[in-house]
Amino acid sequence: MKKPLIMTPGPTGIHEDVRRAMAKDITNPDLDMDFFEYYKITCNKLKELLNTKKDILILNGEGILGIEAACASLIEPGDRILCIDNGIFGKGFGDFAKIYGGEVIYFKGDYRKPIDLEELKLFLEKDSDFKLATLVHCETPSGITNPVDKICPLLKEYGLISVVDSVSSIGGEPLEVDNWQMDIVLGGSQKCLSASPGLTFLSISEEAWNIILNRKTPIKSFYCNLALWKNWYNEKWFPYTQPISDIYGLNCAVDRILKKGDYIERHKIIGSAVRKAIVKSGLELYPIDGYSNTVTTVLIPGGVTFDKIFNHMVGEHNIMIAGAFDYLKDKVIRIGHMGENCYEEKIYLTLKGLDETFKNYGININGSIHKHFVEVM
Ligand SMILES: *Cc1c(COP(=O)(O)O)cnc(C)c1O
Repeated sequence: MKKPLIMTPGPTGIHEDVRRAMAKDITNPDLDMDFFEYYKITCNKLKELLNTKKDILILNGEGILGIEAACASLIEPGDRILCIDNGIFGKGFGDFAKIYGGEVIYFKGDYRKPIDLEELKLFLEKDSDFKLATLVHCETPSGITNPVDKICPLLKEYGLISVVDSVSSIGGEPLEVDNWQMDIVLGGSQKCLSASPGLTFLSISEEAWNIILNRKTPIKSFYCNLALWKNWYNEKWFPYTQPISDIYGLNCAVDRILKKGDYIERHKIIGSAVRKAIVKSGLELYPIDGYSNTVTTVLIPGGVTFDKIFNHMVGEHNIMIAGAFDYLKDKVIRIGHMGENCYEEKIYLTLKGLDETFKNYGININGSIHKHFVEVM
């Protein structure tokens, strides 16, 4: 298998140290008391990254499992759920809520902009009778970051707990779970953390635990049942055998991020430089505001298709960039600058490849994308 440089918004490149950690010999994670401590230490590192003192759980499945576990554990049939929707993942959250019987009401924002706080406030003035609100921190398909620092405290003013998908922002954008009064925040291993795909993790507030543990009806799932995890440490019991090698990798990946300590600044600088280079080249960004620092979404110009760009990038440059799906299918390309991919050298190569690709298809580019990038860095 020819290994391309994967510059997609997840999965991302994995550092050699993380791969080595995953190759370590294993123990029996159900019987070895040291593993319970190791799992706890890994959760503590995630707490540091999320700026929270709340409980954290790591579950064996990628980001979608975190979304589904939160919905399965919190939502009972007939519960009114507010789904804050300005993108594909935001809207999709509502589908998970419906699976568990939620009566979903959507607050729909502009899909090219972050959620407007004033509009949300007006909406909540009229109707705030919800059990919880779901929202997405970074809308990965469109490259938009929502102001969760303001949305979650606003929801709290109306007595609403929040369930936030931060899969593509944790480790790339500022996140202060406790200060921003966020109840459930979930992430995945394969985006800005640059660990292998396969793990999700959630921070869970006391208020959320109270709802989960005091339901009228039983949770209709085993794998998605967070209540089973409440006393894992005291009882030294996991609901199922833990993916120990993946957790070794995650622990090492989070360690690297915390030790370097530069991730917020690095994503900000690179994200901004990529956007400036794209705009200077005469290409158009999909978002109009609220630009993500972890992924850049660019409208595909007339005269070329996503397949052509993708195939040429892989075939000629050995670099993989992403398209998108749903209503953005064939409309945009996405460059991930997350975690281990958020370094000048990798981005330079990607933009150089993209520059050649566009020119190969006769697309008019002002100057060179990669040269603009170097200039603005
Ligand atoms: C990546 C991602 C997920 C997880 O979805 P997969 O594409 O299945 O990995 C969930 N939410 C967001 C916002 C994501 O970017």
